[in-house]
Amino acid sequence: GETSDSFAIEESLKELAQLADTAGLMVVGSTYQKLASPNPRTYIGSGKVAEIKSAIRAFEVETVIFDDELSPGQLRNLEKAFGGDVRVCDRTALILDIFNQRAATHEAALQASLRLFVALAQMEYQLPRLTKMWTHLERQAGGKVKGMGEKQIEVDKRILRTQIGVLKKELESVRKHRKQYRNRRFSVPIPVVSLVGYTNAGKSTLLNQLTGANVLSEDRLFATLDPTTRRVQMKNGSEFLLTDTVGFIQKLPTTLVAAFRATLEEISESSLLVHVVDISHPLAEQQIDAVEKVLAELAVSEIPKLMVWNKVDKVTDPEKIKLEAERREDIVCISALTGEGLLEFCNAVQEKLKDSMVPVEAFVP
Ligand code: GDP
Repeated sequence: GETSDSFAIEESLKELAQLADTAGLMVVGSTYQKLASPNPRTYIGSGKVAEIKSAIRAFEVETVIFDDELSPGQLRNLEKAFGGDVRVCDRTALILDIFNQRAATHEAALQASLRLFVALAQMEYQLPRLTKMWTHLERQAGGKVKGMGEKQIEVDKRILRTQIGVLKKELESVRKHRKQYRNRRFSVPIPVVSLVGYTNAGKSTLLNQLTGANVLSEDRLFATLDPTTRRVQMKNGSEFLLTDTVGFIQKLPTTLVAAFRATLEEISESSLLVHVVDISHPLAEQQIDAVEKVLAELAVSEIPKLMVWNKVDKVTDPEKIKLEAERREDIVCISALTGEGLLEFCNAVQEKLKDSMVPVEAFVP
């Protein structure tokens, strides 16, 4: 878009490349174009299409990913323009792929609802795109089944709609079940502290450092898709439950907002929200805003918050950052990697929890 500046576009593309990497794809290059408005047929202009086409040949590219949501028509036209077996997809389809991969590797009952959401989002995404798949099959069959495709689309759509209905019902029951489970959990008066923050901020690293729990931590987006809870015991005998939540990303596709909301539902029952920030990131301020925007939507304004500026080992001027943190309120500087500031962090959590003990007690039946 013309309104966003090049830096923001490049950062967004970098995030997209990281997503592609998480999905197991090897990224060979990226490009963008500034247009007054997207081309209705192919999203990008014809010159750009030609440019990408030659890159596809040169690098034997199998997949072309667009950062914005493409219409089914644009998807179709681009695939036709690029030719061969090149797969064209958008950010939404890519994230759905990752969700699917991640969800498939976890078997715990807690993840059931997430899997359902993924399936649901995927089906709702597929529905308007079915036509493409069938015309493709017709082509493969050399036109022998002409016309049959159209009938099949109607059948498929009906099947998909039925499946979507079934999934929605299942989800409802899983939701009820989880609520009961959460209510039971609150009969133990241990405060729950939730880690929230932008993807890659260092939430699982922090959780690992504090608890020695072996939560998946890798330099990939969505390394922690599932909420994970650990018990943290402090030397003075007090303890709290620390929960890692799914990371936030900018430009979250609308189809996935529901899935995120479900994973984040539990944070509304925490005694404290710890917002972890990668302060070494060039867009740290924007990431803070993105997270706070989602938090505002979740109606958790009542819950006390503590902000953590992580990765101080990585910034060029740590003293300046620390002074800035002191100037503002409720910010602790840490390095989850080196362990710097972790004791201060735990103390700050304790201080904050003192204020919020009452609501926890109130949950005891
Ligand atoms: P999450 O998505 O918020 O759970 O982030 P992770 O805990 O998976 O961390 C993302 C990446 O940042 C990993 O490569 C970590 O090793 C790295 N990381 C986390 N904390 C720090 C830190 O304090 N300093 C540095 N230099 N890297 C860190």
